[in-house]
Amino acid sequence: MGIELTAIGGYNEVGRQSTAIKIDDDVFIVDLGLHLDQYIKYTEDEEEDITTTSRRGLRKAGAIPDWTSIKDWKKDVKGIILTHAHLDHIGAVPYLAELFDCPVYGSPFTIALLKQLIDDKTMKFENELIPVTKPIQLTEGVKLELIHMTHSTVDCKMVVLHNKHGAVVVDNDFKLDRHPTLGKPPDFAAIERLSGKVVAHVGECLYAPHPSKTPSESVARKMLEEVLLEEDFEGRTVFVSTFSSHIARLSSIIDMGKAMGRKVVFLGRSMAKYLAAAEEANILKLPKHVEVLKYGSQIRKFFKQQKDLSKYLIVCTGHMGEPKAALAKLADGGYPFKFKPDDVVVFSSNVIPMPLIIANRDELVRKLKGQHVRIFDGVHVSGHASKEDLRWLMTTLAAKHLIPNHGTPEMTEAYIDIAREAGIPPSRIHNLREGDRITLVE
Ligand SMILES: [Zn+2]
Repeated sequence: MGIELTAIGGYNEVGRQSTAIKIDDDVFIVDLGLHLDQYIKYTEDEEEDITTTSRRGLRKAGAIPDWTSIKDWKKDVKGIILTHAHLDHIGAVPYLAELFDCPVYGSPFTIALLKQLIDDKTMKFENELIPVTKPIQLTEGVKLELIHMTHSTVDCKMVVLHNKHGAVVVDNDFKLDRHPTLGKPPDFAAIERLSGKVVAHVGECLYAPHPSKTPSESVARKMLEEVLLEEDFEGRTVFVSTFSSHIARLSSIIDMGKAMGRKVVFLGRSMAKYLAAAEEANILKLPKHVEVLKYGSQIRKFFKQQKDLSKYLIVCTGHMGEPKAALAKLADGGYPFKFKPDDVVVFSSNVIPMPLIIANRDELVRKLKGQHVRIFDGVHVSGHASKEDLRWLMTTLAAKHLIPNHGTPEMTEAYIDIAREAGIPPSRIHNLREGDRITLVE
């Protein structure tokens, strides 16, 4: 009896997020994500997309969480709860959920996206999928509340497990955006209601080293407007490359296409999947001036048939230089398309500082420059809370136990420093590694 927590994945590392929480006799798993770097190396698949492959192979490659750290809890798992629709949080669900005889809970968009991922695979999937829109009793002693948060995809939630010992909160991923461009700001009132009632707070660390406050998505929209609406791109082919999961950004690009008098064309499977999930969850309705080309054959046909590409605003993946993604194929002549001098590529993204990504990205930029393409880089703001936002959340929740998560050792240390500065005693901060188990309430 009491509360225990097992750090399954994403502790002192970024990727394959997963945390198991045992409350009395019931176990809940929050997130089952992919380690994208390992996943891409193992499958050679493009960014933000998954296809069929074996569970064993993925586990060996370190691409999915090592669930064996909760082998002894397996039969007691009563629910898998998802925070948001990024693959480092939900990408392993199609491979691992069948091990547990329980439903999968998440926001309507997260569940819609998960369905898209499952439809893509040949493995059987029998767990019930439950979209959650209001607090729900999971077991006799545990009630789930999903608190609305903002991040770089939509319909993101802070997971709260209410029980007789006090609430357990998993916050990742989030930022505190009071001026989002799509959807509502975080539910600050619900967060404040939890103050002082939280027994454990699992907190994301990714941007803990940034001594600032993360700007709103409305700032990124303004940055995009300055490029797309204030520069003269008359007669040029214009590409924007961004994250297919970033529905708010895609929505801004759709609006700007209209303002530019251009038809918006999305390229690739990953874009198609996230847009379909957003439509299914009633978050976005694609207007008439938008076209989605899911398959390579459709993309080739589009470029073959078009005489005047300056009538279009073309949106694609590949901003990290992934060799198989659309932008690299465009640069390599993989489609029946050739850049003309002064055509435009806008990177509405940041570069993740990992050696493989930096090398791929440098190679892509070199090829684009070689074809005299004009590049607008870094038209982006992050979806992760910086130091001051993290400080606000940890001091507002004022949990008895604070558990850093979703960061490298350096990011985790920065998070712990924030907690120390905020006066949280070291005895209440628990720096866990993958596979560690801790008792929070006896
Ligand atoms: Zn995320």
